[in-house]
Amino acid sequence: MVCLYCGGKTRVFNSRKQHKGNSVWRRRRCQRCLAVFTTQESPDLASTLMVSQSGVYTPFLADFLYTDILLALQDRKNCYIEAREITKTVIRHLLKLSTSPLFEPRQISVETAKVLKRFNKRAYLRYAAEHESLQKGLRG
Ligand SMILES: [Zn+2]
Repeated sequence: MVCLYCGGKTRVFNSRKQHKGNSVWRRRRCQRCLAVFTTQESPDLASTLMVSQSGVYTPFLADFLYTDILLALQDRKNCYIEAREITKTVIRHLLKLSTSPLFEPRQISVETAKVLKRFNKRAYLRYAAEHESLQKGLRG
């Protein structure tokens, strides 16, 4: 990785595994201008595929999941921050759920609903109302 400011070579002088999740945090220092900045390494979720209903594979887009979750949380004061954290939690759960990178849309909805239910009942109900596949099986 080159320096953000001058394009010079950088060296890692501190790194830490985030205790939650799948990412590594690194402090880098530019060898030319001595600027310091942080990078974070995490799995590329665009390469985590998702299978559509019709059997056609489309890339998993975390932004869609985030938008769905944000809609469910829309009346909460910190909905943007909460939606971002919940999106990360759902993705972490999905990655643990399976050894394969292929997911059914329903698996994603079910996992999202589970996380939301634990977080906030109202957000969960709003999410479930938007996802018909959840109407059965997840009630109660
Ligand atoms: Zn530099």
